[in-house]
Amino acid sequence: MSSLTDILVAEGLTKHFPVMAGFPFKRRVGAVRAVDGVDLTVRAGESFGLVGESGCGKSTTGRLLTRLLEPTAGRVLYRGEDITHAGRRQLAPIRSQIQMIFQDPYSSLNPRHTVGSIVSGPMEINGITPPGGREARVRELLEIVGLNPEHYNRFPHEFSGGQRQRVGVARALALEPKVIVADEPVSALDVSIQAQVVNLLQRLQRELGIAFLFIAHDLAVVRHFSQRVAVMYLGRIVETGTREDIYERPRHPYTRALLSAVPEVTPAEPAPPRDRIRLTGDVPSPLSPPSGCRFRTRCWKARDKCAQEEPPLVRAEGSAEGHLSACFFPEEAAARGTC
Ligand code: ADP
Ligand code: MG
Repeated sequence: MSSLTDILVAEGLTKHFPVMAGFPFKRRVGAVRAVDGVDLTVRAGESFGLVGESGCGKSTTGRLLTRLLEPTAGRVLYRGEDITHAGRRQLAPIRSQIQMIFQDPYSSLNPRHTVGSIVSGPMEINGITPPGGREARVRELLEIVGLNPEHYNRFPHEFSGGQRQRVGVARALALEPKVIVADEPVSALDVSIQAQVVNLLQRLQRELGIAFLFIAHDLAVVRHFSQRVAVMYLGRIVETGTREDIYERPRHPYTRALLSAVPEVTPAEPAPPRDRIRLTGDVPSPLSPPSGCRFRTRCWKARDKCAQEEPPLVRAEGSAEGHLSACFFPEEAAARGTC
């Protein structure tokens, strides 16, 4: 059930990309199960983190939620309205309210357009002229994201990576969205400027009340930004809960493994030694995921049952309400970690 505060909801969201082969007549020989039954809810004004290794289906999930991709199955709800198969007309009034920020600030901005025309693009497309005119609004947006409004006529190549990502953020803000799907917005940036861009997004989330689905490939970035987190593995969510649930009391072995790869952030307070877990082996192919629990081929706790049955995403004994994990043999409920 969705409530009033739920802004963006995925229910059983699934995307299978067909794999074609053969000559001269191509036929379907299989499917990449990129996203395979994902449930998640982003609430109004919150930052929700979606984390998992490369290839686990995060971008596909983001593109399904923003309706850049058509789902194979499942539903997408925006403020309670089913937009899973909405056509252009139904989507038109919603498009402006759901925006996306992409990973690569180099390829996501048209190099032949000035920053002014890039940022005002969404207003043009939607035929919106704000009071005071588009140019004034663009200057205001550039200022909001920490760029010099006088740089209105410059081209993307005249900016650094961090500044380009700020241009992407200004463009996403142009239509005053209610929710932004940020797909690894800082992964392509220098570590030294990642924090600045994350701080900017955090400020926007707080001051403008915009909800974020923040996608990242490790748990370090989301830690400071997201109140709730979901961990994804091979097209499925394996654990979800509040930041404290995930960082202090992880129940899924995969979450624990991801956490043990996160460097300690407070060296001033020596942490109790946490056994380092090294994930061995590659992520299996989403063309033919392992039977039962998809993580079992890399899990040090796997038993027969894990190959036979798929563990449901449920509240494990001893977990807080809303803290769900998909494991038959969850980690102990006792606090661990160092938050
Ligand atoms: P992530 O963002 O977590 O790295 P993606 O959502 O990009 O993962 O990809 C998930 C899986 O789906 C990968 O195996 C990827 O190769 C595959 N995939 C993504 N887009 C397509 C597509 N358009 N056609 C076929 N396979 C795709
Ligand atoms: Mg991705």
